[in-house]
Amino acid sequence: MKKKNIGTKLAVFLTLLVFVSVALIVVLNQKNDSVPEKAPTEPPSIEGQPLFGKSNAPVTIVEFGDFKCPACKAWGDTVFPKLVEEYIESGNVNFAYVNVPFHGQESILAALAAESVYKQDPSVYWDFHKTLFSSQPETAKHDELWVTTEKLLELTSTMPSISPEKLRQDLEQELTMPEVETDTALYKENGVGVTPTIIIADKKISDPFDYEEIRNVIEEKLSAANE
Ligand code: CA
Repeated sequence: MKKKNIGTKLAVFLTLLVFVSVALIVVLNQKNDSVPEKAPTEPPSIEGQPLFGKSNAPVTIVEFGDFKCPACKAWGDTVFPKLVEEYIESGNVNFAYVNVPFHGQESILAALAAESVYKQDPSVYWDFHKTLFSSQPETAKHDELWVTTEKLLELTSTMPSISPEKLRQDLEQELTMPEVETDTALYKENGVGVTPTIIIADKKISDPFDYEEIRNVIEEKLSAANE
């Protein structure tokens, strides 16, 4: 009897665990149903986008992300460093980031700031990118407020080449909105309905957290590029 109880409890616990895991995945991967998912037919245009790594690398990876998205922060903390170590430092792969402001006004504010920093001094863009994701509270829910003009000014206060007056003006008057709109057109064109979305050359990765899948596609594209 006791054994059966333990078995039942275990079954209930495992069922709950599956439900919680599924719920977590749904919450972490922010979906936007208004954009139909589709496979790209060619590599996304990265003209005017920040590029990490050697500009002449044979393969380009594009992340479609949102500074407000917890899964994007998790991807940057776990998968991105592996890519840097294995493929970007050697010059085989470079990496571009495109804003997908899925989480309302704060996403847009963060994207406007990123575009302002990139325009003012492209060489500090990736520092800002990293700092902004690091500032996302560990417990952040999608609706928790943390991106503010004052916060963005504080994050750039250690970057002498970024003018706080210019940044404030870009945010308050939305002067970098054309760049954000370029990104918006790009994610729609590439059928991006979830963040993060990772596209390697012309191939969309089905699970951005599956490093084996990422590695296989990179190897395939590197072989094709070397033919
Ligand atoms: Ca952009």
